[in-house]
Amino acid sequence: FAPWEDPGEKPLIQFKNVTKRFGSFTAIDNLTQDIYEREFFALLGPSGCGKTTMMRMLAGFEEVTEGQILLAGQDMARVPPNERAVNMMFQSYALFPHLSVWENIAFGLKRKKMPKSELDARVDEMLRLTRLERFARRKPHQISGGQRQRVALARSLARAPKLLLLDEPLGALDKKLRQDTQFELMDIQEKTGTTFVIVTHDQEESMTVASRVAVMDEGQIIQVATPDKIYEEPASLYVADFIGDVNIIEGIATKSGEDGYKINWSEGKEPFQAKTPRTLSEGQKAYIAIRPEKIAVSQDKPDSALNSIKGKIVDIAYLGNMSTYHVEIPGGLTIKAQTANTRRLSRRSFTWEDEVWLSWTLTAGSVLER
Ligand code: ATP
Repeated sequence: FAPWEDPGEKPLIQFKNVTKRFGSFTAIDNLTQDIYEREFFALLGPSGCGKTTMMRMLAGFEEVTEGQILLAGQDMARVPPNERAVNMMFQSYALFPHLSVWENIAFGLKRKKMPKSELDARVDEMLRLTRLERFARRKPHQISGGQRQRVALARSLARAPKLLLLDEPLGALDKKLRQDTQFELMDIQEKTGTTFVIVTHDQEESMTVASRVAVMDEGQIIQVATPDKIYEEPASLYVADFIGDVNIIEGIATKSGEDGYKINWSEGKEPFQAKTPRTLSEGQKAYIAIRPEKIAVSQDKPDSALNSIKGKIVDIAYLGNMSTYHVEIPGGLTIKAQTANTRRLSRRSFTWEDEVWLSWTLTAGSVLER
């Protein structure tokens, strides 16, 4: 077994109590996190939360103020950028315009003084990996944006780094091409076994490509988990709200059964019920966070669903494959409910001003404390 054939969670990168200050400003705040070998790890968060600073510290462009970053067990503090088994791919690609695709990919290898035969074989391998064989002789301006992106990727991988940092790698591509390229990126990551760390502003993109997503806020990682966990079991309102669309209902919790609570959200209204692994204290403030697609819309009052509430449709967003209904319920709340348009929309679908029932199950929402 080569060590990387072990699907275990062997850390390649270890942030140990890392703090980064710029003058008196703390950009990264006592952050501890492992990133595993062969992992596709995404950093997600609002502008200024410290994503780029994390990447720059990994690449060695920025010094750590306190704490340590280990790469394969070795402290990186005194290892200069060019001696790290790390490469960074920028959004601008930074290809050399006067060099061919082949020469662009070979550039870093030539500087490394690799023997000619080995170099040729390596460049050819990279061309095959990124499906660029036919374009080897062309200059960057003679190929498409998507192909340029693949040249940049081939060039970054040519020296076989252990870690590749991708800063908005698909930012220059239009939506359709971007989606296709996400799958190529995953495929190439898997084939090479390189650890990828990606920064993207596109949450859907990070959910698609990454094996784990780290949601950041003000220099800290708030939650790290697989995309589905982040989406289905957000650790806080901040995470729930940052990823995808969510309804948040505030109320007061009272115990109900083994692992359930009643959330009193509006006076005189039946409380909503929810199950949660969390322990809340009696009478504390709590929130139910429910994704729009977990809420059913119906004409009649559902019998079985445990949570239901009547409301009026005030807005409809038709998205083709689905529709989002904005439904006003008592207490001045507007709830978003999303239904899949699996059939042609007919007279049976709902329209503005319709009175409808919203319903969801006990486990549809997450119960959060903040
Ligand atoms: P964006 O998504 O906008 O790129 P980001 O999450 O990548 O944001 P960083 O670039 O890591 O954010 O910056 C984190 C914080 O550190 C910001 O408030 C930024 O202003 C600050 N910062 C970054 N570099 C420096 C610097 N060289 N000197 C002073 N402050 C800096």
